[in-house]
Amino acid sequence: MQLLIKDNISATWCRSDFQVALHALEGERVTVETDHLFRDQYNTAPIGKRRAKRLMAKVAKTHPWSACYFPQAYEILTGCGMRIMSEHVQRVVNDARQGRQRCNYCGKHSEAAGAFCPHCGKGGCLVQFDGNTFPQAK
Ligand SMILES: [Zn+2]
Repeated sequence: MQLLIKDNISATWCRSDFQVALHALEGERVTVETDHLFRDQYNTAPIGKRRAKRLMAKVAKTHPWSACYFPQAYEILTGCGMRIMSEHVQRVVNDARQGRQRCNYCGKHSEAAGAFCPHCGKGGCLVQFDGNTFPQAK
């Protein structure tokens, strides 16, 4: 499962290390960590150091001051993953949520079948990932 991040997320200003890291991902395709799936947000898999350096170099060209003020952006890219909201996603590729349901009690996901969560055993907590609620892969 991958995301194509929108090209122009915020016009000019960055107010945090996270926003600089998000700028670095503009127009990029990133891998999603699929252990935990959500309706309106995604956790990226860690980005390799070589790629992260290239992405930060790209941001340094468009926002030359950003590396000075927000030096943690690189660590955010290469760390345990970034939280990406749907509004920043152009397209989802190979969506792992298709045909699955999420447990609102334990947060795990499973095949769409049955009334009880196969992970925690709770009933009434399962919600189908609905294709109408997230951008479809093309
Ligand atoms: Zn559960």
